[in-house]
Amino acid sequence: MRAGRHGGTMGTRIDPALLANWCRMRDADLFQLALGLVPPWMIKTVNFDADKKRLDLEIDFKTGGRFPCPDCGTVDCPTHDTVMKTWRHLDFFQHQAFLHARTPRIICPKCGVRLVGVPWARPGSGFTLLFEALVMTLVKHMPVAAAARLIGEHDTRIWRIVFHYVEEALARVDLADLRRICIDETAAKRGHDYITLFVDIDRRRVVYIADGKDAGTVAEFADHVDARGGDASRVKEVCVDMSDAFIKGKRSFNGFCFGSF
Ligand SMILES: [Zn+2]
Repeated sequence: MRAGRHGGTMGTRIDPALLANWCRMRDADLFQLALGLVPPWMIKTVNFDADKKRLDLEIDFKTGGRFPCPDCGTVDCPTHDTVMKTWRHLDFFQHQAFLHARTPRIICPKCGVRLVGVPWARPGSGFTLLFEALVMTLVKHMPVAAAARLIGEHDTRIWRIVFHYVEEALARVDLADLRRICIDETAAKRGHDYITLFVDIDRRRVVYIADGKDAGTVAEFADHVDARGGDASRVKEVCVDMSDAFIKGKRSFNGFCFGSF
């Protein structure tokens, strides 16, 4: 077969089945690259349904694939069985995209049977990491309900993502050097549903958010500081409005210098 001037072939018809297979392979290769999949993971099928406006990608691993234990890190554990899972991924233009994969459960010599983590999603989530990154970007700029409408998900699923990353971020906050804080309450919703914000003045960041605005929230924060490597008794300045509740709460800190704004 000889290539023609315009990239076709002269006098030879291309087998349609071959062409279709070539196109499928190209799609799979493209999505393999786009998702950053590395062996043993690979794209198995690509199904695009224009009428349903959705793209379904099936990911698989090569037979005999071995995986590290998610608990102890033992490498090359054999596969015991698989569990089919689905994750919503970033939209493909106006089409919703979903990944499907038979997720292996390995047998670890130390830990027993364990479900392997996949590189494109965190354990227990029905969304890919990229989708969750989009969600966290959106909710910085709009209410969660608006973000949920925009991406076509129920807001409770979006709240679950937000709670996970906020809790993860809070767990990483080191409060060992906390010395000056600012406390203020604000309405979380319309009406009298209040939350209290605790701000590290020196680092200019919120370090804790409590439900309510009574003295108990301050005591709760003091416990939080102690649990996060800090020492509430070393907080020397508290900037707060002079509501009775917070004045009672200030006793949770020893030796503070009480300011107001
Ligand atoms: Zn193990």
